[in-house]
Amino acid sequence: SGRKQIINFGAGPAKLPLPVLLQAQKELLDYKGLGISVLEMSHRSSDFIKIVNTTENDLRELLNIPENYKVIFLQGGGTGQFSAVPLNLIGLKEERSADYVVTGSWSAKAAIEAAKYGKVNIVHPKLDAYITIPNPSSWNLNPNASYVYCCANETLHGVEFPFVPDTKGTVLVCDMSSCFLSKPVDVSKFGLIFAGAQKNIGCAGVTVVIIREDLLGFALKECPIVFDYKVQESSNSLYNTPSTYSIYIMGLVLQWIKKCGGAQVMEQNSIAKSKLIYNVIDGSNGFYVSLPASIYRSRMNIPFRIGNANGDSILETEFLDKAAKHNMISLKGHRSVGGIRASLYNAVTVEEAQKLAEFMIDFMKEHHV
Ligand code: PLP
Repeated sequence: SGRKQIINFGAGPAKLPLPVLLQAQKELLDYKGLGISVLEMSHRSSDFIKIVNTTENDLRELLNIPENYKVIFLQGGGTGQFSAVPLNLIGLKEERSADYVVTGSWSAKAAIEAAKYGKVNIVHPKLDAYITIPNPSSWNLNPNASYVYCCANETLHGVEFPFVPDTKGTVLVCDMSSCFLSKPVDVSKFGLIFAGAQKNIGCAGVTVVIIREDLLGFALKECPIVFDYKVQESSNSLYNTPSTYSIYIMGLVLQWIKKCGGAQVMEQNSIAKSKLIYNVIDGSNGFYVSLPASIYRSRMNIPFRIGNANGDSILETEFLDKAAKHNMISLKGHRSVGGIRASLYNAVTVEEAQKLAEFMIDFMKEHHV
């Protein structure tokens, strides 16, 4: 490929599949002989509309999205959806109330944002540490809530839902930003799913929203028009200028996922990759420490400490320095939690996860464990 061989374990924006980058490079100056780049293309042109439609159709195929669900491509990132979700859905029921399951810092942020627009009920007592998912049978669900909100994979804390919660008939809204298309999902169990593209399915700038069509049309009057799902849906995500290039890159990633064999293959790979790392952690006699309860451990983001549960900062710095010398980068934990974090999104290969596992074993042996 002509570039330095680096293994990027970043949490996002994250590694892209090499064939996607090569195709984008090939098409950068001249997209399919048109003499212009996708970067310079009108979002109203038939060529761009073809890109949007193909991207949507590929996504529908990959996730088996039922016909009564609409797909929208928006700007504003995952954080934009923390606002857009309540602005569009909290008015579904008169009480203007929503239930939030807070299992990490992303769902916590979403709950704070929603409280600007209505009542927010956190369905369980505040967790001391984000290392588990409270048993759904203990959730205090409000039958009059407009929706129940959860985050499928907490990117910072490494806590992932291994099941789809039963909301007793209330609309379920889910942030899948950091596990989107890493496994098949039964879309029909959700009212709304959203995901920023910059982790598993593309680059920063575009956020996918999948919404059941009967939930359109309930936006509060204060809802900014660019975030009004009904407006964006009825104009094919082209009410205003969308993130054209990011949609194009997402389209290339979806084609790559299809070629690899789809969501099932992504899941098999992510099981294999995450096992390689967790096996090293579990076999390390406490040298590496993973905090989340084992059944809720994320396959996508693996935060861990070295030396002890609080992390030995000398060992952790040495680990990061040595990893960088082995061309393994972006392993530093999020600034709010520290430690190490290995993100194993779709574009990270099993071989690359294997290299990290081997490096972890060598590092441990150097320290006589
Ligand atoms: N939700 C989750 C699960 C995330 O991991 C992130 C970002 O890392 C966000 C939301 C926020 O996304 P953005 O930075 O696109 O606003």
